[in-house]
Amino acid sequence: MKKKAVCVRCGAFKKAAFARCPGCGLIPETDFEAARALILSEKTVYGAVEIGRTPEELEEISENIQKGRPYPIDGEEQNRVVREYWNYLKSQPPPQHRLGRYLKWGVLLIVLFSASALLGWWLL
Ligand SMILES: [Zn+2]
Repeated sequence: MKKKAVCVRCGAFKKAAFARCPGCGLIPETDFEAARALILSEKTVYGAVEIGRTPEELEEISENIQKGRPYPIDGEEQNRVVREYWNYLKSQPPPQHRLGRYLKWGVLLIVLFSASALLGWWLL
């Protein structure tokens, strides 16, 4: 498994900041948990800011947490990450809703079907 992020609670490595921890099952849920998870993950650029730690730092943080020393996350950094991450998400185009896409195809099919039915009826 690629070491991409460290679990804030037990220090196990997981594949992504927001993934479920394979060690203790923790999933970041609140904004602050998400911020802490982002801080304890591999450095990633979000828009204009970079959030995270280097792989070496993560290695050390993971060891410390597993030895019972939680990583001291600065409250100010946590607040800043919440703010910056939300700014980043807001600047992203909203993902296209799946249902909307299916609906569009459904409508197109119905239109095509009625058109061919009408044409068939008209030709007879
Ligand atoms: Zn964990």
